Amino acid sequence: MHNSIQAWAHANEALARHTTMRVGGAAQWWAEPQTEAELAAILQAVQHGGYPLQVLGAGSNLVPSDSGFAGVVLKLGDGFAWHRVEENRLITGGATLLPKLTKFALQHQLGNFEWACGVPGSAGGSIWGNAGARGFNGQAMESRDAATDLESLIAYDRAGKRHRLLRHDVEFSYRRSSLGELIVVEATFALKPLNEEQAQEHRAAVKDLLKKRRETQPTNAASAGCVWKNPQYGDCRGAGELIESLGLKGHRVGGAVVSPIHANFVVNEGHATGADVRNLIKEVEEIVERETGVHLEREVRLLGES
Ligand SMILES: Cc1cc2nc3c(=O)[nH]c(=O)nc-3n(C[C@H](O)[C@H](O)[C@H](O)COP(=O)(O)OP(=O)(O)OC[C@H]3O[C@@H](n4cnc5c(N)ncnc54)[C@H](O)[C@@H]3O)c2cc1C
Repeated sequence: MHNSIQAWAHANEALARHTTMRVGGAAQWWAEPQTEAELAAILQAVQHGGYPLQVLGAGSNLVPSDSGFAGVVLKLGDGFAWHRVEENRLITGGATLLPKLTKFALQHQLGNFEWACGVPGSAGGSIWGNAGARGFNGQAMESRDAATDLESLIAYDRAGKRHRLLRHDVEFSYRRSSLGELIVVEATFALKPLNEEQAQEHRAAVKDLLKKRRETQPTNAASAGCVWKNPQYGDCRGAGELIESLGLKGHRVGGAVVSPIHANFVVNEGHATGADVRNLIKEVEEIVERETGVHLEREVRLLGES
């Protein structure tokens, strides 16, 4: 029985509840391990049953299809949402949300994690996709990503085997890592110790970063963040600017709309389906390619069939 997925998972969990875009059908099986032992047992049951497996973090970069996912969707449970500080190290479980980590680090006078203050992903998902944003280095705002201060991580492979990896064991590039099928359950970041005066400056920088986001991004709408990576386009314009230059802000399919605030965001006005979001993404890509020759590469991941 312990080898069967029924012992660890329940059927028909709506993925719309677990994604920030709030679309998508049901997962055939939904598993939420609370400990590493449970995770290993679930992975063995998945292998034993020959199920397709999809890992989900905070669901802030995923757009599931309306037909959901035929297989097991695995989300690290609250048992993985822990964090602690040891000297200049921030150590976190894979399910902890990044904004919480920024706040916690600054409470302990550790800086350099400011970039993550407005990224609504989990630590594990954000390392897997090497999330990044503008942050603060003590002097100026600068781009940083999950890999910048990562020291080591613990991950499970699909057979349920535990691995400890150092930063240089993994390849990271713009919004990508070589982690592949590994599931990140724990990570250690080496951060910058601050005195109280410096910590105040870093806290002020976080306020500025969050204000800037509220002013320039649809932070109150249901979305999956930036849909496309920034292409190289002559003067290196960002994807949002490129889409805006073609008059596509406000372009819609059903309840999915290119955000009038930031054209790299597709937002769900409340009644969008997974198909609306996918079709709008494809339409924008086609128009951009036809009009400019630029092939937009996706940052969001589409899950399952339309
Ligand atoms: C309003 C908004 C603003 C955003 N701003 C930014 C930004 O500034 N910069 C940026 O980079 N992104 C941004 N994003 C996108 C998103 O928050 C990030 O990509 C985030 O890192 C995704 O993490 P997640 O836990 O939500 O992953 P999910 O969306 O749940 O999953 C994404 C991928 O990670 C994998 N994954 C999830 N958890 C794990 C794990 N524990 N181990 C291994 N793989 C895992 C999944 O299988 C999937 O392939 C934004 C999103 C929103 C909605």
